[in-house]
Amino acid sequence: MRLFVAVQLPSEVTKSLWAAARELEGHWTGGRLMAPESYHITLSFLGEQPEPRLEAIAAAMDRCHCPPFQATLGELGLFAQRGGGVLWRAVLSPELCRLQAQLAQQLEQAGFALEKRPFQPHITLARRVILNPGTAMASLPVSAQSFGVEEMVLMRSRLSQQGASYQELYRRKFD
Ligand code: ATP
Ligand code: MG
Repeated sequence: MRLFVAVQLPSEVTKSLWAAARELEGHWTGGRLMAPESYHITLSFLGEQPEPRLEAIAAAMDRCHCPPFQATLGELGLFAQRGGGVLWRAVLSPELCRLQAQLAQQLEQAGFALEKRPFQPHITLARRVILNPGTAMASLPVSAQSFGVEEMVLMRSRLSQQGASYQELYRRKFD
């Protein structure tokens, strides 16, 4: 099973991100919008794991101690890739970063090997993006929005030619 732990978004945040994402189409020559149902913030990507490891992942999520907290949408960013970049919206929240560090520590203690890349909290809005010549990221429209985070979710990802589809496997509510 291809697995990751993520934070999901309230529907009003998803709606405004989607509205803003659709406006970006006027600023690019190439790009594929992600479906709004797929929006999420990845905390930890576990990759392929055998099913019996699900319990250990849920237990590591349960061992994290975190009260509910606030996060804010930040600037737009582009991860450069061959054939077009990944366009994302940053998420600003010190508590989110602390949660991610705590979860990574719990998962590593349970024997999972994780990415060593620094955590860059974000929501992927589009892929294979090639901006119009002369378009600066800083000129694209964004509006600040804050939202509450009350839980994290273990997700299964199934990859296909239409893109990934996600399924929730376990929810950890914060206390
Ligand atoms: P696709 O790969 O088909 O474009 P996707 O990236 O949404 O779709 P997955 O590759 O299963 O689906 O990834 C699930 C989540 O984990 C996404 O948020 C993705 O950005 C993130 N992710 C994938 N691979 C890694 C990785 N090696 N390190 C960190 N995060 C990753
Ligand atoms: Mg991927």
